[in-house]
Amino acid sequence: MSIHSADFIKSSPKIEECPEPDFPEYAFIGRSNVGKSSLINMLTNKKGLAKTSSTPGKTQLINHFLINNSWYLADLPGYGYAKVSKKTREIFSKMIEKYILNRKNLVNVFILVDARHLPLENDLEFINWLGEKEIPFSLVFTKIDKVSQREFAFNFKKYMQELRKTWEEVPTIFKTSAEKKIGQEEILSFIEDTNKY
Ligand code: GDP
Repeated sequence: MSIHSADFIKSSPKIEECPEPDFPEYAFIGRSNVGKSSLINMLTNKKGLAKTSSTPGKTQLINHFLINNSWYLADLPGYGYAKVSKKTREIFSKMIEKYILNRKNLVNVFILVDARHLPLENDLEFINWLGEKEIPFSLVFTKIDKVSQREFAFNFKKYMQELRKTWEEVPTIFKTSAEKKIGQEEILSFIEDTNKY
């Protein structure tokens, strides 16, 4: 899929204020600083479309972008600000939970994780929560330019081991670098193929 338009639509503090669910929607989420804004800008070929890093504690907003006048890209607030807790619902906000469970046009959630890190507790909890709720999701490794192949292979293996503790199937995986423009085609093709809302 080539991108011919990418337009900011609105920021919404809650699901009730999101745009009408008229187009298939793809949501992007991850811990703060994971590289979400950079990835969104890389995917849409539009520098500055998604603004960099929201400060922890700031109002959490869902940003909607309309791509090619045919699908929504939803930039969800980062999670992982809350103090480490065993309860997933305390780790990401109720607002995100409500959005994910109730957004009618949501096709897929892209969970971003930093390729340099071993699986982190709250990423795994979030992944497992999505799995339990049967929400389709993919795992996107970011900043792969920052790790050696060997390092990445190690972290990747750890992720797979963790996921297989709970799930028989592992999700679709994308390896990306906003810096080196890696993974754009793969993610856009996935969106094109699943875009049947
Ligand atoms: P966000 O908070 O998740 O939106 O993360 P940002 O997109 O603001 O990125 C956080 C930091 O990581 C910034 O300093 C980016 O320049 C850097 N960054 C993001 N993506 C990449 C990447 O693919 N490669 C490298 N080397 N740095 C990246």
